[in-house]
Amino acid sequence: MGLKITVLGAGREVGRAAVLLEGGNGDTLLLDYGVAFDETDVPVFPLSVKPSKLKAIAVTHAHLDHVGAVPMLFVSVRKPVVMTELTMEFAKLLIEDMMRLAGYYLPFEHPELETMLANTKTVSIGSEVWIDGVKMEFINAGHIPGSTMVKIDIDGTSVLYTGDVNTIDTRLVKGADLSGVEANVMIIESTYGNVDHPDRREVEEKFIDAVKSVIEDGGNVLIPAFALGRSQEILALLAERMPYAEVYYDGMSRRMMDLMLSYPKYINRIDLLRKAAQIFTPVQGTGMRRKILRERGAIIVTPAGMLKGGPSMYYIKRLWDDKKSAVFLVSYQAPSTPGRKLLNEGVIEEGTSKIKAKLFWFDFSSHAGASGLMKLVKQVKGLEKVIVIHGNDAVAYELAYRIREEVGVDVSVPANGDTIEV
Ligand SMILES: [Zn+2]
Ligand SMILES: [Zn+2]
Repeated sequence: MGLKITVLGAGREVGRAAVLLEGGNGDTLLLDYGVAFDETDVPVFPLSVKPSKLKAIAVTHAHLDHVGAVPMLFVSVRKPVVMTELTMEFAKLLIEDMMRLAGYYLPFEHPELETMLANTKTVSIGSEVWIDGVKMEFINAGHIPGSTMVKIDIDGTSVLYTGDVNTIDTRLVKGADLSGVEANVMIIESTYGNVDHPDRREVEEKFIDAVKSVIEDGGNVLIPAFALGRSQEILALLAERMPYAEVYYDGMSRRMMDLMLSYPKYINRIDLLRKAAQIFTPVQGTGMRRKILRERGAIIVTPAGMLKGGPSMYYIKRLWDDKKSAVFLVSYQAPSTPGRKLLNEGVIEEGTSKIKAKLFWFDFSSHAGASGLMKLVKQVKGLEKVIVIHGNDAVAYELAYRIREEVGVDVSVPANGDTIEV
């Protein structure tokens, strides 16, 4: 009997990534175990798995759609979880934050999170570990600091799982590169499997020009951004290009920034992040928030990236009617989020007046576009099979078609619960 690969989550959807590998020799491994959130913010879990039969769990990065459900596996058993040290630090903060917001819906509490952390085995990017006879190799994924792909040799087959990947260099992380890597099976994400992002340098130029023009006009700039990753990427860009500006950062992005500064080996341009921490100002308390808004020419970077709560709501309400000020959205805005509603309709709540502040959207994605994903597939030597996950179904099928046409390997787009035998 060969290797069985079962998709427990992220099959034809973005979110709640979870893939189970079962070798014919009995070796069983879990790759990621994340949560998604439905329209009313209730967590949605991957299909269930018996933790007692697992040899280990490998976690690619700290986003909740990859790690958020891992503590569920620690209710009754203790198995090794493998991830980078920085992923472990971020995951702890993000899972604790999720427990504060959605604890009622979660099938675990603090003791399970503590057990998970106590059983975590940390690895460096580019290193290998052996767990109970199974070799796991962790390869840079270029997605967020600490993120990895993982390559597993199981029962004579090598499986490369990308997690979330990006192929371009950013200030935070170097892009992923798979030249020289060999694998029989590749499980690849497809969030942007059917489009290419605009050139990052051009996006940055337009972003900087727009920020400058708002400031010169006497307005304030609000940049709602995810606390982990996007906030620090924007701060590092501002430190490089506008070091003279009055820049503030608020909310959980402060703690994420401190963590990145304590793990410099994971950061591509640590010099710029250190500079940002030296010259820009963290915001403490509402008194300071009020004071910043009375100034002119302030740039505020704060969660939440899609305007779902966080200090960004405090600021946006106060900038709402100010024609000189502007809101800069710098990430994908998911359907049914306040950020998407603002982009589409100019409002956040039904029945309120439209925003008078200027509104911009910039594509600072941390996922590879179609060309980047194709490049990664083509770099891998010895591929026999590609499995496309972590993309909406039309997108995943489009990427699968392209891989089949251009690379000539067998490709599957499994739904959740589907098992593929190789
Ligand atoms: Zn991610
Ligand atoms: Zn993801």
